[in-house]
Amino acid sequence: MHTIAAISTALAPGGIGIIRISGDSAISVADSIFKSFDGTKLADLNGYCAKFGRIFYNRSVVDRVIALVFRAPHSYTGENVVEISCHGGVYIVQKILDIVLKNGAVLAQPGEFTKRAFLNGKMDLSEAESVMNLISAQGEKAEKIAVSGMEGKINKKIIQIKTSLVDIMAGLSAWSDFPDEDIPQVDRNLLKTKLDAILADLISLNSTFFATRALINGLKIAVTGCPNVGKSSLLNLLMGYQRAIVSDIAGTTRDVVEGTTMIGDIPVTLFDTAGIRDTVDIVEKLGVQRAKECLADADIIFVLFDSSRTLCENDREVISLIDLSKSVAVLNKSDLQLSLDLDEINKYFSRYVRISAKNSAGIDELKNLVYDFVGMDKLGGSEVFISGQRQFDIINRTISILKEAQCALDNGMTLDAITVLIQNSLDVLAQLTGENATDEVINAVFSKFCLGK
Ligand code: GDP
Repeated sequence: MHTIAAISTALAPGGIGIIRISGDSAISVADSIFKSFDGTKLADLNGYCAKFGRIFYNRSVVDRVIALVFRAPHSYTGENVVEISCHGGVYIVQKILDIVLKNGAVLAQPGEFTKRAFLNGKMDLSEAESVMNLISAQGEKAEKIAVSGMEGKINKKIIQIKTSLVDIMAGLSAWSDFPDEDIPQVDRNLLKTKLDAILADLISLNSTFFATRALINGLKIAVTGCPNVGKSSLLNLLMGYQRAIVSDIAGTTRDVVEGTTMIGDIPVTLFDTAGIRDTVDIVEKLGVQRAKECLADADIIFVLFDSSRTLCENDREVISLIDLSKSVAVLNKSDLQLSLDLDEINKYFSRYVRISAKNSAGIDELKNLVYDFVGMDKLGGSEVFISGQRQFDIINRTISILKEAQCALDNGMTLDAITVLIQNSLDVLAQLTGENATDEVINAVFSKFCLGK
């Protein structure tokens, strides 16, 4: 395998920048450009040892750096690694990387260091995915989820479930391979009870996915409603600054205004859509079209109403245009006299909240509603989390196969048929930790990583 190199710190001015080199010739590549002040070669160092010295290019000093040596297999990638810590200027880190590449290393692909760690058995696929989640974590809960995965908790849970399935397989195989021996009959009811327990474990694992996905990937929340109900005012309030223009002239917001903020621990992208209404204004018409696309794409829709007046035709038109299953009714202007018919709101929406964008009343309730929507309560005391669509899909496929096995048991199918289904479930589950993941899957996982990780 090639010796690879990349900048492992953010490409922005900082105190220190790190260029990481990994592979068989990592140490010789580094030695060819680095001279320590005491004359020691990096090749003569043990692992976890560092030297202070200079990087040279064309006999000129480029920077004073620390070179830290890791020896295989005791490194992040499991290969020989040298990390060069230089001054953290954007130009200088790029220049040192360039010199490293001119001296025998090739530029790493995104996620290639972690991919090598996986291929060298330093971590399984779920742990590698957690590394990425940790890097992108924006809140304490997201960080906890990522660390739990990185510490191998999901891996351990999957091993435990696989062991239970293997036990069942062993019982079934013993019975079918040695039918004449004195092996007790397979108790179908007991088998069903065991499958029930495994299924309950898998279902519980997946039940936290919507909350973990929201915490890790964030939520897209579209704010809609007819003109003048207070959409821009709410966006500004949630953003904490005047992001959108507020005015009582209908049609002020003509394009989708976007901003990011945190709702509790959840990173949120808010979209203030143009009021949806029939209009002849060509610019507003384009805004309305974009608003509709945005609504289709959103995870949650805040549908705003002016609670100081009764529902109008335009409100009803908005209701008819949205996916109610992902909508929350936000009854704004709670500081004014209530005229809205709450029974009518209840008819359309399973959740509503009263707020005043003017005086911030009800904003905590709105945040709680978002938590409720993604099932944050399910995270509860859980310590094991599914933290990506890939893992969620694998668990779901395993659940389907095991449910099929249960049906087969109920319908009196042969134990051979059930054995095949349980073997299938084991094969699918093994993909979660990457034991039998194809190159395509592995490449897809690591392509989402950033360069230098
Ligand atoms: P949009 O067209 O839906 O984006 O509505 P705006 O945010 O531009 O607000 C329209 C008008 O309603 C402005 O005059 C706001 O000051 C006013 N408004 C917004 N929220 C509230 C509220 O909670 N209470 C009251 N009394 N007025 C509000």
